[in-house]
Amino acid sequence: MPKKPAVSAKHAEPSVKLSSRGVARLQGRHPWVYRSDVAEAKDVPPGSVVRVLDPRGKFLGTALYSSSSQIAIRMISHGSVADLPALVAERIRAAIAYRKELVSNTDAYRIVFSEADFLPGLIVDRYSDVLSMQILTQAMDAAPVREAILQTLREELQPAGIVERVDARIRELEQLPPLQSGLRWGEKSSTVISMNGEKMNGGHTNSEETSGNETSGVRFHYDGLEGQKTGAFLDQRENYAAAARYAHGEALDAFCYQGGFALHVALHPAAKCSSVTGIDSSRPALEMAEKNATLNGRELEWIEANAFDLLREYSAANRRYDTIVLDPPAFAKTKRDLEKALGGYKELNLRAMKMLRSGGILVTCSCSFHVGAQDFLEMVADAARDAHKSLRVVENRGAAKDHPILLNVPETSYLQCLILSVSN
Ligand code: SAH
Repeated sequence: MPKKPAVSAKHAEPSVKLSSRGVARLQGRHPWVYRSDVAEAKDVPPGSVVRVLDPRGKFLGTALYSSSSQIAIRMISHGSVADLPALVAERIRAAIAYRKELVSNTDAYRIVFSEADFLPGLIVDRYSDVLSMQILTQAMDAAPVREAILQTLREELQPAGIVERVDARIRELEQLPPLQSGLRWGEKSSTVISMNGEKMNGGHTNSEETSGNETSGVRFHYDGLEGQKTGAFLDQRENYAAAARYAHGEALDAFCYQGGFALHVALHPAAKCSSVTGIDSSRPALEMAEKNATLNGRELEWIEANAFDLLREYSAANRRYDTIVLDPPAFAKTKRDLEKALGGYKELNLRAMKMLRSGGILVTCSCSFHVGAQDFLEMVADAARDAHKSLRVVENRGAAKDHPILLNVPETSYLQCLILSVSN
């Protein structure tokens, strides 16, 4: 990529002065500064690269500026940045190298996770030969940055297609022009992925996640232009394999979406389940779940229902299971929802505990950032008391390693997954 002359870039760079509270935030290694902590930002164009100054004018580093978000500043470097597209390209290459060390036995994983990869506002997932990207900030949306993202991904990963999934609400918040999701490069937007096999991904193996057999893993259809989020819940990938190690007997996967847990507890080499039922309120998700089961050569039971109602009904009818998975959508979208959200989680967990046979396995998850690890554990403990059951923590897990947690940035830690053994 041709580099712009450093001189003109340097002189063109606007600056932003922070309040002392804003400075304190940066000293805590959090990359965000809220608009209320910006003391001065005169004539700063939307999405620009800005020099960040303390109240006395001392240079603190370089940030991406948003003219509309409450998060006005996202730090990108503690030094100067002369060429943002070149820096973005370099960070993407580093994020890919980080995954090469940590990720194995899958051809689907997150490649770039925004702040956790020092690329605020960019998410890229790999689904075999199709890449899916999301752009969430004004600065990342600039044409030269987009160009650098696509070019680097093509050079490093040689995909057959790159799709962009647009979050219309975020574009509106960032005051970016509306845009349709679609293919941004190549021809291919759907594919088949495979995870939690062995001897995949260029021969890397990970003995913790697999049994001794060589397998091609559990397979899923992926359509980059359909589905929720970026199409699949890659953050649960390692939890699927962990759940499969303990799951047994009759299993129920509540909030199953396209069957991530259900298929693993049925099909993974470690799986010991005799029957598996998936419940979800979304028919398209269940249709895909059924197709995924067929792809793997198994037929499972899928029920379209409100999981709250169905669990209530099943528990009143004294239905019993040996394994129950609870992976509901985020109940707490904001901090204010916390109490109500914990009430919802508790109701589900309480019912599941009552329905489990002694020795049964409960896999319970929360993807609400506002529900912290401690809140979640306390809620489960509370439910156990009310259900008159004793629970042992078999594993206390979070998101897969390709969704790194950046310390001092609590927002990067949002997923809880507890695997519990339930005794009467
Ligand atoms: N476990 C899944 C992800 C679940 S996401 C996986 O690993 O892929 C949450 C799911 O809950 C979504 O599929 C959504 O359709 C479903 N859902 C939301 N509210 C529901 C309700 N009240 N009853 C049943 N399913 C619900």
